[in-house]
Amino acid sequence: MHIAIVGGGMVGLAFAIGIKHVLPAAEICVFEARALPSGSPSALDSRATALNLASCSLLEKWGIWPQVHEAAASIRSIHVSSKGRFGSALMDAGDVGEEALGHVIENHHLGALLMQLAQTCGVVIEAPAGVVGLAIAASQPVLLRQNGERMAADLVVVADGADSQLARQMGITSERREVEQRAIAANVRCEDTQEGIAWERFTANGPIALLPLPENIPGQRRYNLIWSAHPERAKALETLDDAAFLTALQQEVGWRVGRFTAVGCRTGWDLVRVRAREQVRGGLVIAGNAAHTLHPVAGQGFNLSLRDADALAQVLRESAAEGAAPGSIEVLQRYDRSTADDQRFTTGATDLLATLFRSRGPLLDLPRDTALATLDLLLPLRRQIAQRGAGRTRATLPGQAQL
Ligand SMILES: Cc1cc2nc3c(=O)[nH]c(=O)nc-3n(C[C@H](O)[C@H](O)[C@H](O)COP(=O)(O)OP(=O)(O)OC[C@H]3O[C@@H](n4cnc5c(N)ncnc54)[C@H](O)[C@@H]3O)c2cc1C
Repeated sequence: MHIAIVGGGMVGLAFAIGIKHVLPAAEICVFEARALPSGSPSALDSRATALNLASCSLLEKWGIWPQVHEAAASIRSIHVSSKGRFGSALMDAGDVGEEALGHVIENHHLGALLMQLAQTCGVVIEAPAGVVGLAIAASQPVLLRQNGERMAADLVVVADGADSQLARQMGITSERREVEQRAIAANVRCEDTQEGIAWERFTANGPIALLPLPENIPGQRRYNLIWSAHPERAKALETLDDAAFLTALQQEVGWRVGRFTAVGCRTGWDLVRVRAREQVRGGLVIAGNAAHTLHPVAGQGFNLSLRDADALAQVLRESAAEGAAPGSIEVLQRYDRSTADDQRFTTGATDLLATLFRSRGPLLDLPRDTALATLDLLLPLRRQIAQRGAGRTRATLPGQAQL
């Protein structure tokens, strides 16, 4: 079985590992356009990913959980509040019968661990090795590499990121939903003594999330900040100097977290939710951000893709046992059906979180005495996401049909 994966980001690597884990004889090659990263960013300039419990179990199954755990910070509780309104709420790991609600790891660590695992289990990584074209004739995909070589495979997984060039080349269109928000990601340091808390603050300008990172200076906690705001406001915040940015953050978050003392480089994204209208064709799977790009407010994009990777691996294992070709459309449609519910739920829940509390959103315009109702609405939603993330329940959202 020859499988080619286009894109050596975290998702491309996860698909390679997931398939190799169940089909060790499969020959898998990952083509990554950029040179492999070397070195690591400074403690204030890294980016991070919150892994939910289902992702942690999967990483345990693949054998890298101890290394991921060692490099990660645990989220034991999530503190939710709304600026200028009474009431706040704490969701604790105990609510879902766990020791932690999730774990936060910096992307350079997670990427390096996935890369190491892929190589150890025999996945070939070619980088820098861009793929510039893809054609499929009678379910047989052929890749055209930047160096002019053509390569046939039984199955191609396209994981080339948001705004996928290859999907577009294949005529696969996507559904876009604008949320009129921009997210700023940055790491901040804070003088505080509280360990293992993620903070979520809803303000009139949009939601702010602070995820705990492993400490690297005693007494100075590091957080990964995702600050969503109306695009004009976000762009203005991005241009502030460090001191002014920290003052603006402190005003929005208040003092409960502690005093913010430093901020690293800031990256901004206009937020759109994008979903490919087709994720499979004979010989082809579209994966990761190329298949679904979610608002980062709920931290679910990579978690969802990890579950997709596991689902494809299981379907390929079953079909190999039945003697079916990995690229056959019947096999890939089975994968598509097996992930549809999960993708619909996760996308719907993320959209709900992003749009209910977006700047000038309907709930933020409600009078003060509805604040607790707002939080009441949020926490069951969070709880359902956590429970589902922990693999405990196939929860449904209230009003899911409309999402
Ligand atoms: C601010 C922010 C915070 C987030 N936080 C979380 C979180 O806490 N938890 C979570 O689960 N998710 C989170 N996400 C989502 C998560 O980051 C994405 O789901 C994930 O990174 C998608 O990875 P990917 O591999 O699909 O895409 P990418 O990371 O974009 O990788 C695509 C790769 O393909 C390569 N490539 C592109 N074109 C070609 C080509 N033609 N040939 C070869 N290679 C090519 C690129 O060089 C790149 O390496 C967050 C996202 C953002 C923006």
